[in-house]
Amino acid sequence: MKSNENTSLPNWFQSLKPEGPLVISGPCSAETKSQVLETAKRLNTGKTHLYRAGIWKPRTRPGNFEGVGAIGLEWLKEAKAQTGLKTTTEVASPLHVELALEADIDVLWVGARTTVNPFVVQDIANALKGTDKIVFIKNPVNPDLSLWMGAFERFEKNGLSRLAAIHRGFSVYERTKYRNNPKWQVAIDFMQRMPQTPMILDPSHMGGKRALIEDLCQLGLDLNYAGFMIESHINPDEAWSDAAQQITPETLEGILDRLVIRKSSDNTEEYVMKLSQLRSQIDELDDSLVETLGNRMQIVEAIGRLKKEKNVAVLQPQRWKSVLEKFIRAGNAANLSRDFTKNMFRAIHQESIQHQEKVLKK
Ligand code: PEP
Ligand code: MN
Repeated sequence: MKSNENTSLPNWFQSLKPEGPLVISGPCSAETKSQVLETAKRLNTGKTHLYRAGIWKPRTRPGNFEGVGAIGLEWLKEAKAQTGLKTTTEVASPLHVELALEADIDVLWVGARTTVNPFVVQDIANALKGTDKIVFIKNPVNPDLSLWMGAFERFEKNGLSRLAAIHRGFSVYERTKYRNNPKWQVAIDFMQRMPQTPMILDPSHMGGKRALIEDLCQLGLDLNYAGFMIESHINPDEAWSDAAQQITPETLEGILDRLVIRKSSDNTEEYVMKLSQLRSQIDELDDSLVETLGNRMQIVEAIGRLKKEKNVAVLQPQRWKSVLEKFIRAGNAANLSRDFTKNMFRAIHQESIQHQEKVLKK
């Protein structure tokens, strides 16, 4: 993996690793002492900077393995003593915090099922008050940017400033390619609103399958993510939790070697000039898109007035169906995906209906 430093990241974050993205890896769950020690040993080649293992596991349904509990903290301590790797585990209550602090776990993370609950987040933030612990906060299971940012604010208000975000995707009811829908825009909006906060990608819980991890990591790098949390196991198929998404330490190493880190920018005159030329073309097209849409709405309103005069309903399902089909074909010819064309025209249609309704109500 070729590295290129992202200089806008805070010092405390940079000091967790020599250069390039932060790599957090280790098993979904600590299962046995020997599994925890062996995984740490095999990860300790210099490419992993922080060793993770879940001790208390938030499982969606009861009756599954719910973690080994506090004994796992001793195993993590020993793994650190043997390898020198810093450690991290998930905390979901003040008691977890107390025990993890006692065991000198270096970094704590708040899981997706905890970030959704402001009461619990507040309890955890209160339990950490007065420490300068590093805390990573996963996105809540639902795509709610304010809820995610709110969790950061609760820690900041208690004096904790060494915070990073982990993007692990969002729950959906439908079966999709991903275990958790990425909804990249939520993380991109987060990065824009909180530019000082490092954003880490968790391709394991996002993808839910080994085969998706590498592509997700590359996309994460291309989107300027500051690191990865990737689950690894000495015998992934036999893992007690999240077996389908865990990879061996050696597979992880291969993936990290193949990733390409692109520069966040380039200062050559040629690049700057070409980019600004292309961007000005985009700006022009965007302006004309908005103008065209505005014109379209004026015509829509004229149709609304006509409908009002003749007392005709706003929604004309046949017309809408034929317009949509025509645009999906045209979109296809213009190299636009079916989904994109459909979503875009649904949004335009929705806006048109609102404009016509306004006219009808007048
Ligand atoms: C985990 O990291 O093992 C975990 C439970 O993750 P999440 O909170 O993203 O589901
Ligand atoms: Mn897991």
